[in-house]
This record gives sequence, structure tokens and C-alpha cells, in this order.
Amino acid sequence: MNIQQLNIKTFLFITILIINGVFLCSAHNLEIKKDSSKSKLISFKIKFKSADKAIIKPSALKFNKHLAYSFTVDDGYKSAYLTAFPLFKGGKISGPMINEWKNDQGGDGTNSKGLFYSDGLGNKIPFKLALAINGNTIGDFSAYRGHLSWAEVKEVYDSGWDVLNHGFHHATKHGTNFLTEVTENTTSIKQNLGFTMSHFVVPGGESDPGYQLEYEREALANGSFSVASFAGAGPVINVNEKVDLNKMIYARTFLQSSKDTIGFKTMDSFLATFDSVAKLPNPIWYNEFTHGVGNGNLWNLSMRFPDFKYYMTAIANKYGLKGNHTIWMAPWQEVYEYIWLRDKIKINYAQNNKEAVVTIELPEIPETFRNRTISLHVDTLSKFEIQSNSADFKISNDGKTNHNLIIIQLR
Ligand SMILES: [Zn+2]
Repeated sequence: MNIQQLNIKTFLFITILIINGVFLCSAHNLEIKKDSSKSKLISFKIKFKSADKAIIKPSALKFNKHLAYSFTVDDGYKSAYLTAFPLFKGGKISGPMINEWKNDQGGDGTNSKGLFYSDGLGNKIPFKLALAINGNTIGDFSAYRGHLSWAEVKEVYDSGWDVLNHGFHHATKHGTNFLTEVTENTTSIKQNLGFTMSHFVVPGGESDPGYQLEYEREALANGSFSVASFAGAGPVINVNEKVDLNKMIYARTFLQSSKDTIGFKTMDSFLATFDSVAKLPNPIWYNEFTHGVGNGNLWNLSMRFPDFKYYMTAIANKYGLKGNHTIWMAPWQEVYEYIWLRDKIKINYAQNNKEAVVTIELPEIPETFRNRTISLHVDTLSKFEIQSNSADFKISNDGKTNHNLIIIQLR
């Protein structure tokens, strides 16, 4: 039983007492009980090698990284599963695969060793994308379908990819019911896959001027914490200070292959932009998107697989496990949830000689969150060890090596 459950029981118990005619508990006391059930305290001890005073703060980005990089593939095309998924996690990339639209949504048929970033604690984590999907187009498995199957969406979701709401029919034209586009898609994914999407991506296409504002309003009023749209925060978001995540509307950089298929000139220019973003002095969150990632440039709105592979491999080599270790390549919802929690926790730090006690007050975390991770930056020259035996969280750290990172995984 956790503290929240305990408080709910206490609350019920007090209520029953009142029903039985014991009026000693005032409404004021009930209010206090109710409020205290919303936050929760966790704590652990740190033992340092030296008595020098350490400073502990939430990491701007998870694992003390400098650059959070989120990439979304819109519309739920099968190429995401056939090529990007094995490219990132390692494994056999699909060979050419001509689909129902006579477009090659396969890849080069090679074996990928995977693209990874480091967590700072000796583990490698694969690059991950977000899928922005329309429930109406997801179906049963067929090798020739242009869109993903339910099983494919489930597999990538279970491996840590995010799934974002892109409207049930991808409707944009005059007469669109923006409300049901948002809600029917949420219901469809909940019924078929068992989870609730909590971020929206405005679909593009033939439309009345300002239609995206209707989507933004309906999505934010119906369970979405944020909306990717045509203007707003981003694509470069400074995360050095508190980030205004409340009903956030943000823009993304659109990447696509050029018609010219010789060489990687277009990708090199996108990489130059990426490099300039990565060099910014503050920790930042950068957002990009495309549609298909197969061999054919689907609807001329996509990255051809050779371009996608070239681009992502270059980023991994420069900023990931094989590079300078500055990147946290994670999809939108994962980064959003980290920063949300980062900005709401309250840390109390008390050091006495070589021992310290860290107490963290946690907010009530929304049910639809997938991630409950806190990353702490420790400013010290001393090696340290953590002492904790709480069942409420798992804690790991680099106290014996770099001594600047503590990761708390809340249960
Ligand atoms: Zn779309």
C-alpha cells in the first residue's frame, strides 16, 4: 500500500465516523487529509567520501544531457516499422517492399547494429520515435498495406516509442468535426491497444484558414496536454528554466528528401541546422518530423530511407554513444513528462559532514503519464554512495565514477 492509498483509506475512515455521529472531525480537517493525498514524499541518504558541501538540483534534461531530440513520423505509415524500428534498435531492416500505392516503403535489407545514446550509467538506449496516428487507417496485418497494423503499433509502443493523436480520419477539409476527430481517435486507440493518448498533432491538408486553431482548442479541452501545430513554442525550446508546459502548442521542423536523389546534399544542410542547434549554450529540446521513411519518397512529403539512415546515423555518431554523449533521443511525450515532473518536484537537501538526506516532494502525477523519472545533477568533487531501501522507487547513480548523476525511477 502506498501513501496515497493510505490517505484515501484514512479519508474514508473519517467520513464513516462522521456518518456514525462523531462530529469531532471538522470539515477543515477533512480538507487537509484530502490535500495531503495529492503529494507524496520520498527520501534517501547520500554518503560522501569528503565533507565538502555538495549541491543537488534536478537535471535540466534526463541523464544531465544537453540536447533532447524528439522526432515524430506522422500518419502511421508502415515504413516506420519496416525500416526505422530495426535501424534504431538493431536488427534486420526490411528489403524493398512495394505497397498498395505502388510505393517502396521498405529499406536496404541490411543488418543494423542499432543507433544508441548513453544514459551516463554504462547503459546504451536505442533512439526512439513518436508515431502520430489516425485510428481509422490502422488495420490488420498485410504486407502490402501502406499503414501500420495494430500489432505493429503495439510492438513499437511497448518498446518505448510514443503514440500521439493525429485525428481519427486525418480530416482537415471544410465541415470537419474537430471534436469527434480528437475523441474518436482516443477511443479507437484505447479500445484496440489499451492506453490513452495524451498529446495531439494537427493533421495538415486542404482546409479553411485557421482550422488548426479549432484542433488546438478541442484537443486541449479533451485530454491532450500539448498540441503540435504550425506555430507556437519550438521547434527549439530552451529548457534551462521552468518550461511553460500548460496547454502547450508547439511547432516542429519538417524534414523531407529533395527530388534530386543523388548524394546527401539536402541531408547535409539539415545536419548543419542540427549542429547549430546542438551548439546552443543552454540545454534545449529540439523537434522534427516527417512522414514515410521507406525507399520511395511517399507523397513527396517523406524522407527516403537512405536519407533517413544517413541523417540519423550522422546524429548518433556525433552526439550519441559513439560521439560526445550530449544527446537524449527520446520522443515528445517522454521528454514532456520528464520536464513536467522536473518543474514540479521540491527538493530538500540537508548535509551534515559526510552524510546527507535528500527529501523530494512529488506532485500528483496524471494517470496517462508513461514516465515517472527524476534525474538529479550532483555538484561535488567527492565520490558518493546512495543508501535507500524504499519500495516506492528504484535509484541508480554514478557516485563511484563521474559523481554527478542520480536517477530515480518512481514506481
Ligand atoms: Zn498527417
